[in-house]
Amino acid sequence: MTTNTATTTNPTYARLIERVLDDSRLARCGAVLQWDQETKMPPQGVEPRGAQLAVLARVAHERRTSSEVGDMIAACEAAPDIVGDCDSDEAVTIQRLRKDYDRSTCIPSALVAEEAQLASQAQHNWAEARRNNDFSQFQPWLEKVVTLLRHKADCFGWAEGGEPWDALAEDYEPGCTAAWVESVFTPLRVRLQNLLDRIMGSSTPPSNAFNEVKLPVDAQEAFVRDIASSIGFDFQRGRLDVSTHPFCTSFHPRDVRITTRFHENNVNDAIGSTMHECGHGIYEQGLRQDQALLPLGQAVSLGIHESQSRLWENQVGRSQQFWQWCHPRLKQHFGDAVNTLDLSAVYGGANIVSPSLIRVEADEATYNMHIMIRFEIERLLLKGDLAAADVPAAWAERYREYLGIEVPDDANGCLQDVHWSMVSMGYFPTYTLGNLYSAQFFDAAKRAMPGLEDGFATGEFEPLRTWLNENIHKQGRRHLPADLCEVVTGSPLSADYLMDYLEGKLGAIYGL
Ligand code: ZN
Repeated sequence: MTTNTATTTNPTYARLIERVLDDSRLARCGAVLQWDQETKMPPQGVEPRGAQLAVLARVAHERRTSSEVGDMIAACEAAPDIVGDCDSDEAVTIQRLRKDYDRSTCIPSALVAEEAQLASQAQHNWAEARRNNDFSQFQPWLEKVVTLLRHKADCFGWAEGGEPWDALAEDYEPGCTAAWVESVFTPLRVRLQNLLDRIMGSSTPPSNAFNEVKLPVDAQEAFVRDIASSIGFDFQRGRLDVSTHPFCTSFHPRDVRITTRFHENNVNDAIGSTMHECGHGIYEQGLRQDQALLPLGQAVSLGIHESQSRLWENQVGRSQQFWQWCHPRLKQHFGDAVNTLDLSAVYGGANIVSPSLIRVEADEATYNMHIMIRFEIERLLLKGDLAAADVPAAWAERYREYLGIEVPDDANGCLQDVHWSMVSMGYFPTYTLGNLYSAQFFDAAKRAMPGLEDGFATGEFEPLRTWLNENIHKQGRRHLPADLCEVVTGSPLSADYLMDYLEGKLGAIYGL
């Protein structure tokens, strides 16, 4: 039983697709369990749930790497009716399946098991070290993580002139290398540092009143649901729940789950988090249904995924026109409690920029500095040019240089993120790549649809959503992320779009 509309009648291709679909369905079963773990599961469920997920992960790995799959891919590669037209859906699907298969099979099963075990131990020890505010407790685990990841990178290999970081980043951002990231990040850092200096010297910063007003959580929830459906998250094909760390997961384009969080004194955080996750959710709901769970119906990379979330959160959700539409709704939902907040207070309050220690609490401008610091450090660790023991000092030095702040301790410094303890490096830059892609995509959308932003003031979000759907969502994994950017915007990724946007908007708000 297949719901896919393959144009070929090649029986091997049909069998391969059924097999790949089943593997994808198994993976999505794991995603259901993980969603449940984050949103509904009672505390005592942790251990049995871990065992359930481990079985699924093992079975999925065995199935993905079986020689039967490799044989079917090879047979399709030799079939002119499949690969004859290299741009056909079938040919592109086979190219992506080949890449996935080769990548899964070049890692020995023993290393896969070792990685899973290390991740669980390292994460446990990281949490304890963070609680005790003591990096030295985590240091031996970080050393093990770096050793394992360097071994893993060796198994994958990397292009000539490249480095271990490149091999690992491929899982998150296909085609991305450390040298390319550096070439995009360096001009970003220079312009951003200049902008931050000017913002810090502003004599007319916006009021923070919006971020201090106390509003009941149940009213906040109704409010963000209103925003989510207005911008186009489809509740017939998705749910919004609450979790400590907001996230998005998809079981199918017809069943996409997002979460958000609420604090009585921070409605701004609930709005930003909800619009962010809606952006991820709208991407997943917008993927091709006829290719659901297959390469052409999958998100292309974490960076492009993040571009969709940041675009709705920032380019839309922190725009003046959005607040023209949202401000009266704020009054409808919260009544007298928001009487003192005029349009400039909410728009300004949503756009406050201030260097801080914690990445996940950072504003849309300084956030990128947090990412550059992590990228530089993990790159040096993997090259063998920085010892784990020297990470706290390297961290503090960069926070001083890039953000002008002193790191008081490890918990507020290099122990704040879970990523490295999950045996994951090469991931962090996808956040800033997402910011850069979002600004460049939004610029292209505005050129294609003059007056686009003015529509936000009257709640017209549909044209933008349709444009993103046609140009980005429906492409699935057809192009590499950097190529998709060129196809959609006509130019390679550049820091200029994000900086033009930030300088223009924040310059006006801060009176620079
Ligand atoms: Zn995100």
